[in-house]
Amino acid sequence: MLSEKIEKLINEQIRNELFSGYLYLSMSAYLSSINLNGYANWFRIQAQEERDHAMIMYNYVLRAGGRVELLAIEQPKTDFSDLGEVLKDTLEHEKKVTAMIYNIMDVANAEKDYKTIQMLNWFVDEQVEEEENATENLEKYNMLGQDKKALYLLDKEMGARVYTPPAILTAAE
Ligand code: MG
Repeated sequence: MLSEKIEKLINEQIRNELFSGYLYLSMSAYLSSINLNGYANWFRIQAQEERDHAMIMYNYVLRAGGRVELLAIEQPKTDFSDLGEVLKDTLEHEKKVTAMIYNIMDVANAEKDYKTIQMLNWFVDEQVEEEENATENLEKYNMLGQDKKALYLLDKEMGARVYTPPAILTAAE
């Protein structure tokens, strides 16, 4: 069983992960509109990963005997001034998500809810990777993004990303 407090926090985080997916899909749509199709691909896959994150928590709530309650997802930002703004927003957003995960972890620790702590450990690791990727993407852009030839190559590189579902999700289904 999950405590009411933990169940509520995880349901909110399911919403937050779906919102992340919505935000990244909105970024992908914007990037397609300015013909950065490689970056659009990268963000479309990122959106898929966020939906996976939501499903990892969704599956966890069910397995732990809790009740999944889907909450309203707000509209994401749809207008961006350029690719640089997208990449900056992404890093900021991932830092916020890390703080959200840490907050749930604090509550799980206070409640000695070891199974939730165990589940959240996956997200703690994942956030290290998300912040690392977002930082790298922003730094590359800051270094090279003003050079059109370099931007063309960066876009190509981003276009090579392929989606792989997380093992934790494929194992559970
Ligand atoms: Mg996420």
